Amino acid sequence: MFLTITTTGTTQRPATDLGFLLHKHPDKAQAFSTSHGTAHVLYPEADEQRCTAALLLEVDPVALVRRGRGKGRGGAPDAALAQYVNDRPYAASSLLAVALSGVFSSALRGVCHARPELPGEERPLRIEVPALPARGGPDLVRRLFEPLGWTVTAEPVALDAEFPEWGDSRYVRLVLESEAVTLAEALRHLYVLLPVLDDAKHYWVSAEEVDKLLRAGEGWLPEHPEQKLITSRYLSRRWSLTRQAMERLELVRLAESDDSEVDELDNAVAAETEAEEKPTPLAVRRREAIVAALRESGAARVLDLGCGQGQLVQVLLKDARFTEIVGVDVSVRALTIAARRLKLDRMGERQASRVALRQGSLVYTDKRLKGYDAAVLSEVIEHLDLPRLPALEYAVFGAARPRTVLVTTPNVEYNVRWETLPAGHVRHRDHRFEWTRAQFGQWAQAVAERHGYDVEFRPVGPDDPEVGPPTQMAVFTLRTTTDNSENNNEKEATAA
Ligand code: SAH
Repeated sequence: MFLTITTTGTTQRPATDLGFLLHKHPDKAQAFSTSHGTAHVLYPEADEQRCTAALLLEVDPVALVRRGRGKGRGGAPDAALAQYVNDRPYAASSLLAVALSGVFSSALRGVCHARPELPGEERPLRIEVPALPARGGPDLVRRLFEPLGWTVTAEPVALDAEFPEWGDSRYVRLVLESEAVTLAEALRHLYVLLPVLDDAKHYWVSAEEVDKLLRAGEGWLPEHPEQKLITSRYLSRRWSLTRQAMERLELVRLAESDDSEVDELDNAVAAETEAEEKPTPLAVRRREAIVAALRESGAARVLDLGCGQGQLVQVLLKDARFTEIVGVDVSVRALTIAARRLKLDRMGERQASRVALRQGSLVYTDKRLKGYDAAVLSEVIEHLDLPRLPALEYAVFGAARPRTVLVTTPNVEYNVRWETLPAGHVRHRDHRFEWTRAQFGQWAQAVAERHGYDVEFRPVGPDDPEVGPPTQMAVFTLRTTTDNSENNNEKEATAA
């Protein structure tokens, strides 16, 4: 079983950083014993420009059969040769996924103590798996990896190269390529999707697997169009577990956002009548609250800071009063998906002149962000480490200084109302913190004070009498010495 990961680099960002990210030194070949054999990590090439790490798993097929029997897999233990002669040693199956998570556990979690900034950085990656068992064939391989931003090559492998007339095997040679992806994301895609394609787990699937799936799927599974197939196959079609996972994915989806909700917005009338039977997803409500507050403020030129995959930008584009909409995000991958969602390349000239997507980090002051009417930070602050928050505060309130700033963030008090959220857990693994209403209130008041804004708070979602709403929003308005009221003509003054 074999898998290679290749990255390219420059003098400033050498490709050999891959060694830091994987926690495996490029000059050494290392071996690790895993429960099913030995995993080797070696680097066939390693220089500034190009670095490739290979993971080779040597499986002991006899031990595998014995182990399977020991666990009481059912059926009379028979010593048929077929049990010992199987594809497991060669194919990139669920065993490879388990080895991957064992050998590269820190990389998978996105941790690098030696170089803490590295795991968050996106870089070009090429992953090759020469023999991937793929139930569903190359077509399913593409349906699984393409929505995640990968360029996919999936070639069927002939049963026997010397006898092409025998047709194709159930294996494909897989190559995944991306210009910008973090290694942790890439590993988490493989960790889930290799066993999904193999569709033959070598171990008994227990309730713990639901947690593993949701953890590895964070940030991509809730948005994946093949979410149901992935969940059901990953959990070996154990329906009760699949349902649990789907329920919890729905929770994650409520806290994030989803394509289908945008479609719902498209169809405003249908959505309104439907709303009675089915509660409107929280992400939709959040966008509605943001759009309402922007309209009230009279803003025409709007920044969506930390715009992610562009859902809010898409909604704003539908309202002509917003004459310029700029989405900013640190993630190139998110921006690529946003551009695809907005169909930027096929947009008419007029529409295209209203919108721009820019890559940039909000913890650095950026001159290009000056002169806008309003800035939105929707579910962004909780993704920053607390010590970085003052830098963002300065960049937005101190330097960019739009008249209106909208900040939304989860209200942690509400978490007890999510029935399937385990106590003490945050809603998303990448959340560095979640605040109570009091904590958010204190932060926002202090920010307003320091930078000369007024601030008021609005609930988003059902406002529970005890714990408050699921999302909290702060509306900041720049204090002006001459005119302190909501001035709808302001835009004319600033648009010039
Ligand atoms: N605003 C969107 C996305 C929220 S997820 C929504 O409401 O659905 C948080 C986003 O913030 C991610 O897309 C992440 O890439 C981005 N982000 C995190 N830290 C950032 C930083 N320092 N600069 C710019 N964007 C950042």
